[in-house]
Amino acid sequence: MQVYHGKGVCGGIAMGRVLVYGKKKIQADQEKVKDPEAEVRRYREATDIALVQLSGLYEKALQEVGETNAAIFEIHRMILEDGGYRKEVEHIILGQSVNAEYAVVRTADKFAGMFAAMEDAYMRERAADVKDVSERLLAVLRGENMSERQPGVFQGREVSASGPVLLQNGKETSFRADEPVILVAEDLAPSETVQLDRDRVLSLVTVQGSPYSHTAILAGTMGIPAVVGAGIPLDGSVDGKRGIVDGTAGVIYIDPDEETEHRMRKARDAEKERAELLRTLKGRQNITLDGQPILLYANIGNIRDLDAALQNDAGGIGLFRSEFLYLEREDFPSEEEQFQIYRAAAEAMGGKRVVIRTLDIGADKECGYFGMEKEENPALGCRAIRICLTRPEIFKTQIRALFRASIYGEIAIMYPMITGLKEIRRIRELVEEAKQELDARGEAYGNPEQGIMIETPAAAIISDLLAGEVDFFSIGTNDLTQYLLAVDRQNSALDGFRDTYHPAVLRMIHLVVDNAHKAGIRAGICGELAADPALTGEFLAMGVDELSVSPGRILPLRRIILETDVSEYRKTRQKEWQPPV
Ligand code: PEP
Ligand code: MG
Repeated sequence: MQVYHGKGVCGGIAMGRVLVYGKKKIQADQEKVKDPEAEVRRYREATDIALVQLSGLYEKALQEVGETNAAIFEIHRMILEDGGYRKEVEHIILGQSVNAEYAVVRTADKFAGMFAAMEDAYMRERAADVKDVSERLLAVLRGENMSERQPGVFQGREVSASGPVLLQNGKETSFRADEPVILVAEDLAPSETVQLDRDRVLSLVTVQGSPYSHTAILAGTMGIPAVVGAGIPLDGSVDGKRGIVDGTAGVIYIDPDEETEHRMRKARDAEKERAELLRTLKGRQNITLDGQPILLYANIGNIRDLDAALQNDAGGIGLFRSEFLYLEREDFPSEEEQFQIYRAAAEAMGGKRVVIRTLDIGADKECGYFGMEKEENPALGCRAIRICLTRPEIFKTQIRALFRASIYGEIAIMYPMITGLKEIRRIRELVEEAKQELDARGEAYGNPEQGIMIETPAAAIISDLLAGEVDFFSIGTNDLTQYLLAVDRQNSALDGFRDTYHPAVLRMIHLVVDNAHKAGIRAGICGELAADPALTGEFLAMGVDELSVSPGRILPLRRIILETDVSEYRKTRQKEWQPPV
C-alpha cells in the first residue's frame, strides 16, 4: 500500500480505480514578428520536419504494433498536410504579423473545437489528434526534441477506442475509462474541471492547486471528495490501481491493505449515517436558539448544480458563477442561449432568489476565444467587470439575456471585482443601453435587483458610498483575502501566510455589513469562508444576512445555526479582532 498526503478540499470517501490524467495542453505566447513571410517559411520548414518524423514513426509502429495502431501517424500526416489547417496557420501569421507557434496553437484550438463539436464519435476523436500533431509541430518550431511519445497512448496504457469520454464536449478524448474513476492530475484548469462528467468522476486529486483555487471550489460544488497539493506520482505506480481518497483528511491510499479497506468502509458508512441525520434538517428554518434568522443559499457554477442546491434545501442561489457557461464552450454563448439557461435556473428555483454574477473571466479562469493579452499579474489585470466595461458588447449580451430571463423568477444580477463608484456608473449606462436595445426589439424584460460583490479592499473601505448605489452586497472572501493580505489564492506555497481568520479580514467583513445595514440593504458572504463552521457564530454576531456556500455545506451549517445562541456567543467569543460589541 502507498499512502499520499495533500489538502482535503471536499470531504467524503471515494473508492475506485485511479485514472492519471495526462493532459495535452498546448500553449504559446503571442509575439509580433517583423517579417511575417520569413515566419511562414519557418512554419513550412517545421511542417516538413514533422512530416519526416511522422513517416519514421509510422514505419516503426507498423513493424512493432501493426497497421491498425500505426494508422494514427497517417492521420497526423493528413492533418498537417490538410490545406485548411495550413491556410489557417499562414493566414494568422500574415494577417496578424505574429509568431508561428502562436498561429499553430490558435489553429489547433479552432480545428480541435470543430472536430469536438461533430456528431460522429469517430470524428470527435480527431480533436485529440489535432492537438497531438500540433504539439509535435510546436516542439519542432521550438527546437525541442519531441519524445517518441505515441499519440493516443495514455500514460503508457493503450486507450480503448470505445471508452466513454469524461470531458463533456469530447475535448480531451484520450481521457477515458470504462468505469467511474478517481481522477489524478498534475493540475486542472477551471475550464477543464467544469467539463468533467460528474457521473464518471468519483474523486479529484491534483498535485498542484490551492484550496482557494476555482478548481477546488468547483470540486466542492460538485460535492465529490477532493484533495489538492497531493504528493502523488503521476505514473504507472498509481495509474489503473485501486485507490481510496479520504477527502476530509486529505489522504490517498493506493493498493490499500485489508485493514485500511475495512477502516475506510466503516468511515464511509458513518459518513452516510451523518448525511442521513442532516437530511432530517430539511425543511427547518435557519434560526438561532435566540431567534436570529439567516439565509442559507447555494453557490453554483452551472444549471447542472441546481439539483444539488434543491436537494440540500438551499433558500436560493447566492452565487451563480456565470463565467463557467463561457468556459465550457469554444465560442461566446449567444443572448438566446444565455437567456434559456438563466430562465431555466429561475424557473427551477421556483420563485426563490437566484443571484447571477456577470462573467468573471480572467486570472485563473482563462478562456481562449476571448483572445486576451498575456498579463504579468493576471489577478490584478483585466478580469471580470474590467473585461465587461472594456468590451461592452459581450457585457450587454449577457445583460439583455439576464433582464429577459428575470421575468421568469427572482433573478438578481451581481457585478464582480468592483473597486469604486465610477464602475457602477458605467455599468448603469451600459445596462440602460441594453434595455433600450430590448425596447427597440419589442422584447419584454423584468426589473431585477442589482448588487455588487465586495471583494476588493477598495470596495470594502468605501462600502458606505457604494451601499447607496446598489440593491445588495455579497462579500467575496476568496478574493478579498487575496487582495487584503497580498497572498495569491492560486499559490499553495503561501498557505502558511493565508490567514483567513486575520483580524483585517474579519474587521472588513464587519465594516461592510454595518455600512450595508446603515443604507438599508442586505449583506451576504459568498466566498469559501461563509462555509467555515468556526466562523458561523462571528457572522451571526455581525448580523450577516446571508451565507452562500456549496450545496453540500448547507445542512451542516443549518445544524450549527440551530444550536447557536448569539447573545451567549457574544459574551464568550474571542475578542482578538474587536467588534462586534
Ligand atoms: C470570491 O472571490 O470570494 C468569490 C466568491 O468569487 P470567486 O471565488 O469566483 O472569485
Ligand atoms: Mg472573486
